[in-house]
Amino acid sequence: VSAQLIDGNAIAARIRDAAQHEAKRLAQRGHRPCLAAVLVGDDDGSRLYAASQAETAHRVGIEHRLVEIPPQATLDEVRGRIAELNADATVSGILVYQPLPAGLDAAAVQSLIDPRKDVEGVQPYNLGLLAMGRDALVPCTAAAAMACLASTGIDLSGREAVVVGRSAIVGRPVAALLTAAHATVTVCHTRTLQLEDHTRRAEVLIVAAGRVGLIGREHVRPGAVVIDVGTHRQRVPGDGSTARTKTVGDVRFEEVSHVASAITPVPGGVGPVTVAMLLSNVVKAAES
Ligand code: NAD
Repeated sequence: VSAQLIDGNAIAARIRDAAQHEAKRLAQRGHRPCLAAVLVGDDDGSRLYAASQAETAHRVGIEHRLVEIPPQATLDEVRGRIAELNADATVSGILVYQPLPAGLDAAAVQSLIDPRKDVEGVQPYNLGLLAMGRDALVPCTAAAAMACLASTGIDLSGREAVVVGRSAIVGRPVAALLTAAHATVTVCHTRTLQLEDHTRRAEVLIVAAGRVGLIGREHVRPGAVVIDVGTHRQRVPGDGSTARTKTVGDVRFEEVSHVASAITPVPGGVGPVTVAMLLSNVVKAAES
């Protein structure tokens, strides 16, 4: 590996430390930050995730309040509960775990959250502010990709940046943040022709396509900074007695780490920073 490894765990630790410092300051003023985490139904994955999130939040000095709503709840019932949380002055931030039970649309539910409490940055109002280049609660993964870039010390002004992916919570917000940082930004997606013609121009390449190993050496300009947002669980062929899995990204790390100047690994790159960013957003929401 010739590229500098961007250490997501170390960046996450710094973000948690800063959040802890702020949370303490707020608590001393009688305003302990509180995250209301809404679980509709009883998805096992969400429950596990909630438990680990609660532990991290508590360590940083943020209250984590699990709000459980039965699986058969209607949109009107969910609206009622979220309205209560919106009005509750002790709640600084609200998030809704996914997947939601069939019949409840995630975007419809998220749009019920008060934008000032939208700590995942998924509310149309916050995405609108972001598109306008104004201060907003930013989607955690997009903010994490930017924090990984910032850790390399790169000045983005005037740089060629290419984003692969245009989802509302990753690709588009990353493109908006890069634009705000004065980079020249190209957004690629499934209809892009000759992907490598674009990615090879990139001094900064952000990959959020959700395709295992999409980006190889041939896609990367020598010396580029490469941020891999992709996360996939893959089975590892073994002796069959124990099923093993590993986490991989959208970038073929082995190849690309020989041409890039800096790169995020998967796991240990954008993932842990995303988790820390949520806490940072809760503190930010509590301050406003
Ligand atoms: P998505 O499926 O909503 O969007 C993927 C985007 O990539 C689409 O806009 C699509 O046009 C584009 N795309 C797909 N295949 C392409 C191709 N072959 N060439 C060019 N563009 C292509 O996914 P998402 O929610 O934006 O997530 C992207 C990846 O990031 C996933 O692997 C997801 O698991 C991961 N993710 C990681 C974190 C984290 O914390 N690390 C958080 C969120 C998402």
